[in-house]
Amino acid sequence: MNSSTQTDKAGVSYDAVVVGGGFHGCSTALHLAKKGLSVLVIEKNVVGRHASGVNAGGVRQLMRDIPEIPLSMAAMEQWFNLDSLLGPELAESCHFVGDVGQIGVAGDMKEMAWCERRVAELEGMGYHFEELLTRVEMKKLLPTISDMCVGGFISRRDGHANPARTTRAFRLRAEQLGAKFIEGVRVEGLQQTSNRWVVETTAGPRSAQFVVNCGGAWAQQFAKLAGDDLPCEPAALTLMVTARLPKFMDAVVVGIDRTLSFKQTESGTVVIGGGVPAIVDMENETSVTVADRMVESASTVLDFFPMLRNAIVVRSWAGLEALTPDLLPTIGPSVHSPGVWHAFGFSGHGFQLGPIVGSVLADLIVDGKSSLSIDAFSPKRFSSESFVAVTH
Ligand SMILES: Cc1cc2nc3c(=O)[nH]c(=O)nc-3n(C[C@H](O)[C@H](O)[C@H](O)COP(=O)(O)OP(=O)(O)OC[C@H]3O[C@@H](n4cnc5c(N)ncnc54)[C@H](O)[C@@H]3O)c2cc1C
Repeated sequence: MNSSTQTDKAGVSYDAVVVGGGFHGCSTALHLAKKGLSVLVIEKNVVGRHASGVNAGGVRQLMRDIPEIPLSMAAMEQWFNLDSLLGPELAESCHFVGDVGQIGVAGDMKEMAWCERRVAELEGMGYHFEELLTRVEMKKLLPTISDMCVGGFISRRDGHANPARTTRAFRLRAEQLGAKFIEGVRVEGLQQTSNRWVVETTAGPRSAQFVVNCGGAWAQQFAKLAGDDLPCEPAALTLMVTARLPKFMDAVVVGIDRTLSFKQTESGTVVIGGGVPAIVDMENETSVTVADRMVESASTVLDFFPMLRNAIVVRSWAGLEALTPDLLPTIGPSVHSPGVWHAFGFSGHGFQLGPIVGSVLADLIVDGKSSLSIDAFSPKRFSSESFVAVTH
């Protein structure tokens, strides 16, 4: 592989170019550089500006789509071993807190029956990380929860991390390993020359043997440059945060059929989300929150935690995420352009998967094999006649 150490400039060639400096781009760069490849990450804004820097930081196995479970379990191992991946200082900067549990709260017997079916299904597949909770067990873990909660289920290893700091830590580790990053530069074209790719950017061309599309909400556009017509829609998700409150919970709480996800941070603030849609503004590459869309989220929070009635909301924001029709990520080689790879469409739950997806991609790109299968996420699945989109 190319061991060039020259400074990045137009015309320089690399082993791999990564399009997009979100968490997945940074993780992919880190793992490729760890294997000795020369890597350039090209980010049109600043690293971590979009979903990866503004998400809720939930690190959860709970309620994963079944095809994602092996990846999610392997990702969890990486989260608990950030020290060896990043070094102690950068690992600590991620503020990862594990083993506090993510809890799905059932607000009625119908939701409780769903939890029972889900846990039984996973047990039948040999997965034991989700456990049912009775109302009494729930009260012990969440003493301030209202009597509306009839029980639920928990994944005990789950937790949370600081998304912006984690993305930055992966970037810094990738740089320590030799990867280069350029910001404020947009990828606009892709040309093939013999066995290499020329990536055309607003700062001139760069060439590479491999190109990895980690473009988040813009990934579909890059996929088209590679000749792949892959379904993926931008979506905007809302979060709000309260002023500091006395400590009342450790776990992260999510709804079953309700728009609810919240956690209390170390500083005492409560971050409230759960997939509340905001307004997508692709022209300005941003998203905006709208009050009436947060009403449902706030009212669900108050149903379960009435003690938050007088909590002061100090800030709300939204972030742009990429949704696929089946809400599973698209990960794998391009259908039409050998040497081009995709990793996007994380559909609202890609933060937890960040450390592992980069690792699997690096194994596949460099070694041609990985111990974890990504067949379920293949870009080819969308050309299958049997493909059925998830309906909301
Ligand atoms: C509000 C919110 C809350 C969330 N909460 C959670 C959670 O609790 N747990 C969880 O697991 N997941 C969560 N997610 C999802 C998670 O944040 C995303 O799945 C993940 O961050 C996606 O990372 P990414 O690197 O693929 O995309 P991004 O972070 O969006 O990065 C893609 C980058 O590519 C760049 N780019 C695109 N096209 C080009 C181009 N042509 N040239 C140069 N650069 C380009 C973009 O500017 C962008 O910076 C949440 C998402 C949001 C929005």
